[in-house]
Amino acid sequence: MSAWHAEWAWLGPERGVAERVLVEVEGDRIAAVTEGVDPPAGATRLAGVTIPGLANGHSHAFHRALRGRTHRVGGDFWSWRELMYQVAGALDPDRYLELATAAYAEMALAGITAVGEFHYLHHDPAGRPYADPNRMGEALAEAARRAGVRLTLIDTCYLRAGLDGRPLEGAQVRFGDGDAEAWAERAGAVAERPGLRMAAGIHSVRAVDEAAMATVAAWAADRDAPLHLHLSEQRAENEACLAATGRTPAALASSAGVLGPRTTAVHATHLTGDDVALLGASGTAVCLCPTTERDLADGIGPARALAGAGSPLCLGSDSHAVVDLFEEARAVELDERLASGRRGNHRPADLLAAATGAGMAALGWDAGRLAPGHLADLVTVGLDSVRLAGTRPAEAVDHLVFAATAADVTSVVASGRQIVADGRHLLVGDVPTALDRAIAAISPT
Ligand SMILES: [Zn+2]
Repeated sequence: MSAWHAEWAWLGPERGVAERVLVEVEGDRIAAVTEGVDPPAGATRLAGVTIPGLANGHSHAFHRALRGRTHRVGGDFWSWRELMYQVAGALDPDRYLELATAAYAEMALAGITAVGEFHYLHHDPAGRPYADPNRMGEALAEAARRAGVRLTLIDTCYLRAGLDGRPLEGAQVRFGDGDAEAWAERAGAVAERPGLRMAAGIHSVRAVDEAAMATVAAWAADRDAPLHLHLSEQRAENEACLAATGRTPAALASSAGVLGPRTTAVHATHLTGDDVALLGASGTAVCLCPTTERDLADGIGPARALAGAGSPLCLGSDSHAVVDLFEEARAVELDERLASGRRGNHRPADLLAAATGAGMAALGWDAGRLAPGHLADLVTVGLDSVRLAGTRPAEAVDHLVFAATAADVTSVVASGRQIVADGRHLLVGDVPTALDRAIAAISPT
């Protein structure tokens, strides 16, 4: 049993912020939460506001090597993708482990305790399976273990280069398993363990045909596993899908049996009204990645309409141009203000719930809430920085969502274990140097 005493703690959208909160932890789970008490002997004091662990719902760990290297060039998503493929082509299992460990450690410093890795770099650069065909996925699992965060390995099916059915080419050949049955067999061979959950991924309607989508969805249903897919990030994808199938990507996913409460649609930027209704009525979650969507000039998704239709919202840092879920949370509201001409589209508490509980649910973790029975993730934000000085506890959630940054996170407990203290990673140590080394080894142009 360990005990943590929070000066202030956020107990969820309904309860709000409470004072002097004792969180008792048994193993990796919260045993008791008591408000308004003094710290007992032996309790670790947490100064500032403590919130549940942040969930990064959508990550491509290797994109961290692209930060600062792609932003000044022009073009769009498709030209950016060529630069991204150069990094993808340079990775082997050892470099992937090094880079992902550093990237996940950066996330831990930002208060992220669980990551959904949308993983499709399965095979060697020539498309041949490694001796262990899950060697790359295992590198990610080991990286998360070293960084002290939980991983949902979203093993992603990627079969073709486009809706016209043309085969994978160039850097893409290492993504493919040939067909959905071979994907299912390989993905099914990864053993879950503490801190590792398996999930299914459909790369997109471009990369997976309707019958294969149904196979992946059935694999996830058999295991009661989460299912994620990129959906309508690009207008060009919608146009190609309509031309090839007569349906929008959301309608196609719906008829393949992909939508539902275990499913998360990533981006969901360019939707029709019918698409919003399909996603919402099926209870499909939507993972918004606003800092990536703005960096890639993707567009602004209909987050308010989706939430209103019934889709839980969660957040991801996706390409890791920025690793800061507070920034992602406020971007949902601020981007929608620019698009709608109105303020107050989302309550700050709902945005913080998207960054915590809703994200954990999308990744299949019983976490994201400071309540008994949940995994013991405690993220503490100091209030003594210039950004947060003047915070009033009663309005702490508003301050966190609209003013906090990843740099304000001082302490992180993940699954009952402290992995960050005084802003320092206790397992990886010097995270900037780890990132520098891992990125230099890949040397993207
Ligand atoms: Zn993605």
